[in-house]
Amino acid sequence: MPETKVTEDTGCGGNCDSCAVSSCDASEQRPGESADDFAKRQQLTKRMLGIKHKIVVLSGKGGVGKSTIAVNLAVSLSLAGKKVGLLDVDIHGPSIPTMLNLEGARAQSSGNSILPVEMAGLKVMSLGFLLENKDSAIIWRGPMKMGVIEQLLRDVDWGELDYMIIDSPPGTGDEPLSVVQLIGKMDGAVMVTTPQDVAAADVRKSLDFCRQLNLPVIGIVENMSGFICPDCGKETAIFAGNNGETMAEAAGVPFLGKIPIDPAVGKACDTGAPFIYHYSKTETAKRFESVIKQILEREETD
Ligand code: ADP
Repeated sequence: MPETKVTEDTGCGGNCDSCAVSSCDASEQRPGESADDFAKRQQLTKRMLGIKHKIVVLSGKGGVGKSTIAVNLAVSLSLAGKKVGLLDVDIHGPSIPTMLNLEGARAQSSGNSILPVEMAGLKVMSLGFLLENKDSAIIWRGPMKMGVIEQLLRDVDWGELDYMIIDSPPGTGDEPLSVVQLIGKMDGAVMVTTPQDVAAADVRKSLDFCRQLNLPVIGIVENMSGFICPDCGKETAIFAGNNGETMAEAAGVPFLGKIPIDPAVGKACDTGAPFIYHYSKTETAKRFESVIKQILEREETD
């Protein structure tokens, strides 16, 4: 599998033939690498150099709201005037098309590139846009997963982006591993968890995954954290525990905040109406914004 190992911003103009930056790993064919693999690796490097910030959203297990956070993060950054791409690498159950009401959308091609589906300036790519039948069960073996993720990164015409947000399936398997290996230098991971103490083991695994891959942890978000009554505004804890904050403190990584359970979040996901846009005045939206503000501030201090 071709990996990119760009360790610095080389100011890539996209023309490897006339480039003199020797620190760029794509400048030379590797021993034993075929001409075709070398060309593909150069193409991947060029695509990735056009994207300033790359953030992967991870969770230890499914159903904790990882895709919800990824969508709202991407939409929010886009509303803040950033050029944003949202990549769904969940090949078994891509949910981003549903969450953005793009279920019927199909990716088009242009020359050798695949064009992302655009929604109000946000560039979105998901395997869901390439599959004929979203209900068919495809049996993906490890190397096939890597191959398809590589194509989604390399063959999609992302153009120049400020941010790429990557929604990865839960756990520490092939998909997040491929993303990190293929992209090389990334800003890091936003980790999503829920308050229950029982979720701590999952967070520990995800933290260890980041440590082993030298992937910085941007921070932990605790989702489904309490319920704010829409009538009286009183906050009630539904799940006991303080897992996100406790784990962040123990690991010495930033705690980005708590997002409450809000029926409007679930409704927004089901109807494909991005919550942060359609419910911007609510307390839940303010909590989302506080998380996103910290991610943006990080960029300013980079
Ligand atoms: P994951 O990506 O971790 O599997 P999803 O983002 O798909 O999780 O969310 C799982 C379900 O929980 C979705 O139906 C979503 O609408 C709902 N959900 C996520 N976060 C919240 C929240 N804060 N309040 C209410 N429902 C939520």
